[in-house]
Amino acid sequence: MRVVVTGGAGFLGSHLCERLLDRGDEVVAVDNLVTGSPDNVAHLFGRPGFSLVRHNVSNYVHVSGAVDAVLHFASPASPKDYLELPIPTLKVGSIGTMNCLGLAKDKGARFLLASTSEVYGDPQVHPQTEDYWGHVNPIGPRGVYDEAKRFAEAMTMAYHRFHGVDVRIVRIFNTYGERMRPDDGRVVSNFLVQALRGAPITVYGEGSQTRSFCYVADEVTGILALLDSDCVGPVNIGNPAEFTVAELARLVIDVTGSASQVVFRPLPEDDPTQRRPDITLAQERLGWTPQVPLAEGLRRTADWFVARLA
Ligand code: UDP
Repeated sequence: MRVVVTGGAGFLGSHLCERLLDRGDEVVAVDNLVTGSPDNVAHLFGRPGFSLVRHNVSNYVHVSGAVDAVLHFASPASPKDYLELPIPTLKVGSIGTMNCLGLAKDKGARFLLASTSEVYGDPQVHPQTEDYWGHVNPIGPRGVYDEAKRFAEAMTMAYHRFHGVDVRIVRIFNTYGERMRPDDGRVVSNFLVQALRGAPITVYGEGSQTRSFCYVADEVTGILALLDSDCVGPVNIGNPAEFTVAELARLVIDVTGSASQVVFRPLPEDDPTQRRPDITLAQERLGWTPQVPLAEGLRRTADWFVARLA
């Protein structure tokens, strides 16, 4: 296959590009490098069938030649990033999605949308099943990401129903691993970097809020299983093992052997109180279950940060 990966120089996108090349696909990565970096794909430049195009997909997207699949992963995805880039985030989720759907339609390609657990907002159904419509504050600070992705899902389904485009929608839950930016502000990168530097571990609120963390290799396996399946979705892809943020802080301290102390900071506005995927659909339709436990994934990610920070 010849696959276009938008956001291909990002954290998740770069892992996707690598896995696609490994299985013999050609990859055109498209990225405006706002939150992504060429460093993430530097090791892929020499490989046959890989190219990186610097382009903002919120502007018209042109790719010459045949395309079999378009994977739309371009977007700021860390709360810190999308709060700093609210309008580009809204644009890439709306106009960018429309442009990428247009490309898929034009090429007769399959289209896969990277959606998010944020479409569930601060969920009142727990764990979250795909048929839950969510609890999102449209005018709160996080609305720029949540509503962009909700609109992207609606647009994807409209192209599917009205134009017959072959689509897939994945709802991605908190994912961590190698190539996260040390300064991206997410909880796993913040805690690991703080622990490795012996700095205070910044728990927001009381640390009783929960998240369910999926190691990046597992996440990519699930996404590709969805791409290759006949399942439109949306499908939750995440690790259902749920931890409080305070538990995560203790685990990071254990894994790194750090002497850091936990400090408490104010809880950001509209921070979801709980999040855990119900992955029954992925298990039954895709035969996918995550394999890497949090402690093991954190060890691997810590090793990567050690090398990177050095
Ligand atoms: N968080 C924290 N300390 C940090 C960064 C984040 O306690 O240094 C909390 C944050 O308030 C949230 C959770 O960790 O409850 C996950 O935050 P993240 O930004 O990774 O992603 P989210 O799941 O909120 O999109």
